[in-house]
Amino acid sequence: PGKKVLIVYAHQEPKSFNGSLLKIAVEELTKQGCSVTVSDLYAMQFEPRATRNDIVGHLHNSEAFNYGVETWEAYKRGGLSKDLVEEQKKVQEADLLIFQFPLFWFNMPAILKGWMDRVLVQGFAYDLSKAYDGGLLQDKLSLFSFTTGGSQEMYSNEGIGGDIRYVLWPMQHGIMHFCGVKVLEPHICYAPENVSEDKRKEMLTAWTQRLKTLWKEEPIDCSPEWYFK
Ligand code: FAD
Ligand code: ZN
Repeated sequence: PGKKVLIVYAHQEPKSFNGSLLKIAVEELTKQGCSVTVSDLYAMQFEPRATRNDIVGHLHNSEAFNYGVETWEAYKRGGLSKDLVEEQKKVQEADLLIFQFPLFWFNMPAILKGWMDRVLVQGFAYDLSKAYDGGLLQDKLSLFSFTTGGSQEMYSNEGIGGDIRYVLWPMQHGIMHFCGVKVLEPHICYAPENVSEDKRKEMLTAWTQRLKTLWKEEPIDCSPEWYFK
């Protein structure tokens, strides 16, 4: 109770399976007494492109544009665009970040990747020699909750897709751990489109059940061995 949760959600359709997973998380966490904020990226028409529009006012170097340098400098002087400042505030206040999305090309949808690219700027989320365990977003947890088209068998070590952990490597280790955020076990609903209605209900119930004891969970040991052992 009292914990703050930010759910960054990337699906166009509220009636989708992802929409149902979002609804469950909002309801269950609110019931627990958490305060829940949702960034519904498509509904917000969130801008995924990393451009010079993200910098308000003068550029540090207007001769040759460097997005990383410019956003870092803009962050330091309070010159990032309003939508980024708002998202950073939500991140700063959150104890837990939940990312809810369908898997697109072994990755997150572009709109969510754009959120990562634009919100987690240098100076805010990490800095020179402040990365991984030293990242700036300390004492926060993250959880990647997503759905797939492929079955669990396809994403096993022997399956055609390979171990699902390879997909998790850039998201969990490359982004969250890099920024100092601890990582809870991912929550994966395999192939909701291709299973029975009963199985779908079962998957939704499993998510509710997991959320009930979420705050008792220990983060994973997010090291290369976890992914490639
Ligand atoms: P939906 O189609 O919205 O939901 C599935 C079913 O659940 C529907 O019948 C819906 O009505 C039903 N449902 C919703 N709510 C409930 C409820 N409360 N109770 C019971 N039933 C409910 N997949 C991969 O595995 N790997 C990839 O690399 C990949 N790349 C993709 C790239 C693109 C561009 C696209 C568009 C898809 C890709 N996919 C891939 C497939 C994608 O991951 C799946 O289509 C997606 O995860 C399914 O989730 P959904 O929420 O959209 O499902
Ligand atoms: Zn890691």
